[in-house]
Amino acid sequence: MSEAPPEYRKPIPAPSAVSRPFWEGLRAREVRLPRCLECRRYVFYPRRLCPFCLCERLEWVRASGRGTVYSYTVVRRAMNPAFQEDVPYLFAIVELEEGVRVTANIVRCRPEDARVDMPVKASYHDITAEITLLKFQPA
Ligand SMILES: [Zn+2]
Repeated sequence: MSEAPPEYRKPIPAPSAVSRPFWEGLRAREVRLPRCLECRRYVFYPRRLCPFCLCERLEWVRASGRGTVYSYTVVRRAMNPAFQEDVPYLFAIVELEEGVRVTANIVRCRPEDARVDMPVKASYHDITAEITLLKFQPA
């Protein structure tokens, strides 16, 4: 596994007992989503109850890692100094093939080339020995 550069100064996610399988999946280069065992719908973000039928029985399944850009913005002014070196960058809502929407950066895409409905696929970015971030790139 690649180590994050020592100068990484951005916020680092803190997995909870509920979200840990999601983060473990990213570490293994997989997008894993909770799915309700009762109504069979995918759920995101991870939580203890299905938001559709309130069932407590959720399973973790491997998702395709593919989706389309539902919406996006070009960030031109960093709201946190740690992101100053990245502007301009793409921040998007990606609708996965499984139907859930995830917020993430779009990488390997110039801001002027981004489009709504653009097909994207998962891109995995190790930032610490434990944490890998989910981003997307044009498919
Ligand atoms: Zn359900």
